[in-house]
Amino acid sequence: MTDSDLIDLRSDTVTKPSPEMREAMAEAEVGDDVFADDPTVNRLQEAVASILGKEAAIFVPSGSMANGTAVRAQTQPGDEIILHADSHAYHFEAGSQSAVSGCSVRLLPGPRGLFTADDVRAAVRPDDSHFPHSSLVIVENTHNVGGGTVWPIDRIPPIREAASEFGLRMHLDGARLMNACVATGRSAAEYAQYFDTVSICFSKGLGAPVGSTVAGSAETIRRVHRFRKMFGGGMRQAGIIAAGALYALEHNITRLADDHANAKLLAEALALMPGISIDPATVETNIVFFDVNAANRTAQNLCEALRQKGVWMLPLGSQRVRAVTHLDVSRDDIERAIAVLRDVLGS
Ligand SMILES: *Cc1c(COP(=O)(O)O)cnc(C)c1O
Repeated sequence: MTDSDLIDLRSDTVTKPSPEMREAMAEAEVGDDVFADDPTVNRLQEAVASILGKEAAIFVPSGSMANGTAVRAQTQPGDEIILHADSHAYHFEAGSQSAVSGCSVRLLPGPRGLFTADDVRAAVRPDDSHFPHSSLVIVENTHNVGGGTVWPIDRIPPIREAASEFGLRMHLDGARLMNACVATGRSAAEYAQYFDTVSICFSKGLGAPVGSTVAGSAETIRRVHRFRKMFGGGMRQAGIIAAGALYALEHNITRLADDHANAKLLAEALALMPGISIDPATVETNIVFFDVNAANRTAQNLCEALRQKGVWMLPLGSQRVRAVTHLDVSRDDIERAIAVLRDVLGS
C-alpha cells in the first residue's frame, strides 16, 4: 500500500493543495513582504480584515506564531493568561506563553473546552503586588481537544463583559473559526466582534499548504508585526503561499459542511461498534474523538491495526482516538474507513 492509498484522518493539516490552488499559487504576483510590497499578501490581509470586521490583519507562517505574536503583543512578562485547560495554546505550542511572552497561565475547567464568565471572574488575580497581573483571556473556537466544539455565540458576550470589567484583552484562537461559522451560519465578524485579536489558519480544513493570520486594531497589528519579525516570521516573496490562502478563502469555506457531515457519519457508525464509546451528538464539526474500552485494546494498538488496513487515526491518550475529516477525504473514504473499523473491531 502506498501512502496515497491511505485514508489519513490524523488531522486536517494533512490536506495537499489542489491543482487549481497550485495554479493560483504559481501565478501569484509577488514582492518583498518585509518591505510590505507583496501585493498578494496585502490582498490576503485586506480580505481577512474585512471578513473579520477588523482594521488590520497580518500574515504569519503558522497558527502557533499567530497565537504567540498575539499573546506577546498584548501582555508584559510576568502577566498571566486565562485559558481553558484543554487549549491548543497551552498543550501544543511548546510552552510559547512562558518561553516567548514570559507569562504564566491560569487554566479554566469546563466541559468540551467551554467556560463561563464566572470562571473568568474567579480566575482573575486581585490587584495586589503578590500576584501576577491577569491580562488576557484566550477562547478557542472550534475547540480542538474539546471535540471540535462550537462556542454558542450567546456564551461569548458575558465573557467579554467579565474581561472588560477587569481590563483584560481577549484573543480568539480561531484556527478553525470557519468550521464554527459553517456549522452555525454565523459570520466570522459576528464572532470576532467580541475579541481584540483573532487568529485563523489556512492550512487546516481550508486546505492551503501554509499560513495563518492575526487580525485586530491597526495599533495592535503594528505590535504583532514587530513581534513577527522578532520571532523570525518575516517572509519575503510570501505571495506564493498567500495565494493558496486566498484561494482557500474563495473556494473552500462552504464545503466544510461536507467534512462535518462525514464526521457525523463516522461518529454514528462508531457509536454502534463494540468496545467503543462516543456520543455522536457531541460531534458538531470535523473532529471525532472516541474512547476504546474493549479489553486488551489501547488507542495505540487500535490505531496500529487500522493503519495496517489503510486507515490512519491519531491516538491521543491511552484510550482516546482522534479522527478528523477534511477536503482530501471523501464520503466513500469514510465508508471505507467504517468498514475497516468494523473489520478490526470484529463487529
Ligand atoms: C492547529 C492549531 C493551531 C496552530 O497550529 P500550527 O500547527 O502552529 O499551525 C492553533 N490552534 C488550534 C486550535 C489548532 O488546532
